[in-house]
Order: sequence, then C-alpha cells, then structure tokens
Amino acid sequence: TADGAVPRARADELAARLRGRLLRPGDQGYEPARELWNGMIDKHPALVARCRGEEDVAAAVDFARDLGLPLAVRGGGHGVAGQALCDGGLVIDLSEMTEVAVDPDARTARAGGGCTLADVDRATQRHGLATPLGVVSATGIAGLTLSGGMGWLRRSHGLSCDNLLSARVVTADGRVLTAREEENADLFWAIRGGGGNFGVVASFEYRLHPVGPEVYFCNVYFPADRAREVLRDCERCLAETPVPAGPIGVLGRIPEAPEFPPGSYGQPFVALLALHPGDPAVGERALLPFRDIAEPIADLSGVLPYTGAQSVLDEDYPDGRRYYWKSVYADGLGDELIDRLTVHAAAAPSADSTIDIWYQGGAMARVGEQETAFANRSAPYLFGVEGNWTAADDSAANVAWVRDTVADLRSYSGGGTYLNFPGFLEEGEQLMREGYGRNYERLAQIKAAYDPGNLFRLNANIRPRG
Ligand code: FAD
Repeated sequence: TADGAVPRARADELAARLRGRLLRPGDQGYEPARELWNGMIDKHPALVARCRGEEDVAAAVDFARDLGLPLAVRGGGHGVAGQALCDGGLVIDLSEMTEVAVDPDARTARAGGGCTLADVDRATQRHGLATPLGVVSATGIAGLTLSGGMGWLRRSHGLSCDNLLSARVVTADGRVLTAREEENADLFWAIRGGGGNFGVVASFEYRLHPVGPEVYFCNVYFPADRAREVLRDCERCLAETPVPAGPIGVLGRIPEAPEFPPGSYGQPFVALLALHPGDPAVGERALLPFRDIAEPIADLSGVLPYTGAQSVLDEDYPDGRRYYWKSVYADGLGDELIDRLTVHAAAAPSADSTIDIWYQGGAMARVGEQETAFANRSAPYLFGVEGNWTAADDSAANVAWVRDTVADLRSYSGGGTYLNFPGFLEEGEQLMREGYGRNYERLAQIKAAYDPGNLFRLNANIRPRG
C-alpha cells in the first residue's frame, strides 16, 4: 500500500470502527469530498474518513499509520497549497466536526476542528463575544489557527493562536492529548504556529473578548497614484493615536461592481480596510483620519454587524477558482518600496489579483518571538501577494507574477514568510526556515517527540530531528 491503495477488507474494518462515513471512489459524496477551495488542486484519495469525533480521528490515524498510507488532514479545505487532500491514501475530513460550545461567563469557546470562521463567529456573537480569526468567513479555523491566524483583531487582541487556551490533539500514536499551558506544554507551544505537524486537532478552545454586535468598518478606495501618501499616512495614523484596529492596505484594480463608479472600472487602486472592535460611534471617529487621507474613488465604510464585517471580502474568493499566494515580511515602507508595490500590482496578469499590506504590531507583537512557535511577529509589515484567476491557460503567467513579485520585494525585506500564504510549498525546508526562523530547531525536536515517523507530512512539513 505504499502507493496509497487500500485492500477492501481493511477499508471495511475502518468503516466499521467509524461513527462517520468512510467515502470511497464511486460512493455518493466522494466527488464533493474531493473539492477544495483552490481549483488548482485535483486529487483522488483512496479513502475519505468523515470523522464525527475524537475516537473517529484516532481510528483513522491508527489505520493510516499501520498501513503506511499517505495521510492528509482536512479542516476547512481552504489551505492555499491544497494539502487537505492526497492522491491515494486516506483523508481525515473534519468537515462534520463543526460544533461550537460557548461559555459566556468564562469567555471561552470550544470549536470542532472542521469549523469555519463563520461557524465560530456566529456562535460567539450571540453573546457579544469574539476571538480573533481571519478576514474571509469560509476559511477553516484549523489551518488558520495552527499557522498563526491574522485578522482584523490582530493588533487589538493578537493572533488566533495567541487566543488558543487548549486543544485536543490526536497524535501519531493514536492517543488523544490535551495541549495547554499546564499540560503537554511543548505540544501546546508547537501547535501555536507549527501547523499540522504534530497531530490532528479535533477541537480548539479559544479566549473570547467583548466585540460587537455592531462595529465600524473602514473600506475606502483611493487612486493607486496616491499610494505613497495613503500607505505612509496609514502608518502615521496608527502611530499617533493608538487605534485598536489592524488595517490592511490593498493594491488592485477596481472591479465591475455596482458599488464603484462605472468610470473607475479597471482603475488601479490603493484601499484601506480596517475594523474597529469598539463602540461603532467611537470607531467611526477613530477611523476618520484613514478615510480622509485623499479624495477617494469610493468610500464604502459604515456600521456593520461584526459577522457582516467578517464577510466583507467573501465574494472575492469563490470556491473553485485558481489561486496561488505567497508572502514576505518587510521592515520599512519607504517610497521606493511603495513604488515597487504599485508597479507590481498594476502588472498582475489577472485584474482580480492583489498585493495586501498587513500592518502588524500591537497585541500580536507584544507576544515574544519564542513564546509560541509562530515567528516574525516583530516585523512591522507583511506583504501578501495573491494571484487570483480563472482560466487554466493563465496559470503559468499568474504563478510567475506572484513568484517574481515576491522575489523582488524580498530585496527590501528582513526575510521571513507567513506559512498560511505558502504557494505550493515548493521550496521545502528552505520555506520552513523562512517561516520559523529561530523557532525551527525547537519545532524539529518536538516533532521528533510526537511524530518521529513523520506520519503528518502532507503539510508545511517540519522534519523530525532528535
Ligand atoms: P485546510 O486546507 O483544511 O488545512 C490546511 C492544512 O492545515 C492541512 O493541509 C493540514 O496540514 C492542516 N490542518 C487542517 N486541519 C487540521 C486539524 N484539524 N488538525 C491538524 N492539522 C490540520 N490566513 C490568515 O491568517 N488570515 C486571513 O485573513 C486569511 N484569509 C484567508 C482567506 C481565504 C479565502 C483563504 C483561502 C485563506 C485565508 N488565509 C488567511 C489562509 C488560511 O489561514 C489558510 O489557508 C489555512 O490553511 C486555512 O485553513 P483550513 O482549515 O481551511 O485549510
């Protein structure tokens, strides 16, 4: 079975052990189960285990290990690299594990490993609470949290992984462990940034904060030739009055959508997007300086339900399109660099591609670089270079644009990359070193303790080192 094929009788044994369904090619539900967000990925697993709890996950882990099968783990299926599936082998599919239990008094929530951001936000918002997640509501909490998790609340409340209180982890030997500060502390350290390397996380327990139910959301588009001013003034506004908002600058081209003036379609823009987590009236005042930087093409800012703000970008990322994203950190945002960003954005082969400037700092930077596995906290900026396109024939040009852009931006960078925007992981260990910096060696040692045989290797893989 080294090629990932599975004897029928063995598969029947697994099916009998699972509460959830075991899907095989030809079964109803198998084809949808091999669809991922990224239409670039087309893989054919031998088996998909639709797990319904920790015991199912443990049974599936035992099965893959004992048969020496390739093993993929699917949380929300939104991993850019498409590692949630494998060819041949077994997929542990958590998409039915979406329960969320909120304790409003303790301000905590426990969420199943298959939850989307929307699942968690919906449940916590019933109590006027939220934990920091990402900016597109269909994304899975699992992949997001395990490699960091940057969203609108990162400067006010930290990364998703910074708000993780505990997790239930099924390790390579089939045990179900609790990882928290006081228990399996090395595992708890490693899963806060170290990705899917250490086991399958069946559930996550998060700290919650009062946010919403309504918030002020800044969403303003300026002409790209004002990029120097807009991106620099955004930084100045953040420095002068510490605003509890984590802006994202976006360079792209105005889409043909009714909210933009028709004459602006296709025009290069620089946008500022930010969510203020406090009272909406306070938020509106606090974010006014961002909206006032220049004459906008369109200002779509306003008061939204928190869950609405969490899905403002949803329609830009439909399932099944083609995507290739990479990233690089930067130490400064000088005029020359801003000009490079503008030139690259305008040269994107697809009008739907963007370059995103994530303003870091605040709460996420107050956690020490070695307090969790997540590295590159102290860099002031992260550039996400997003290739988003439709036609298969355009793939080579779009992938090349992302790679060339990142390579050029790297010359302005102190190094490092964010492993939730990992391309296809094609650089192997070099990418891991970029992503983890000084935390890499410790991660490799913890990997050796929990997964010496590298069962969990279809991911941003850290090789075990004793
Ligand atoms: P999956 O493809 O299911 O999983 C990705 C990998 O994580 C798997 O291959 C596996 O190795 C591992 N994994 C998944 N579930 C588990 C589990 N339960 N236990 C152990 N390992 C597991 N990132 C941000 O930080 N901020 C954002 O705002 C943001 N926005 C995004 C918007 C979109 C539209 C998309 C597609 C991605 C975005 N990302 C963002 C990146 C996102 O965090 C990653 O793509 C992440 O991997 C998605 O997690 P998932 O569970 O949906 O993915």
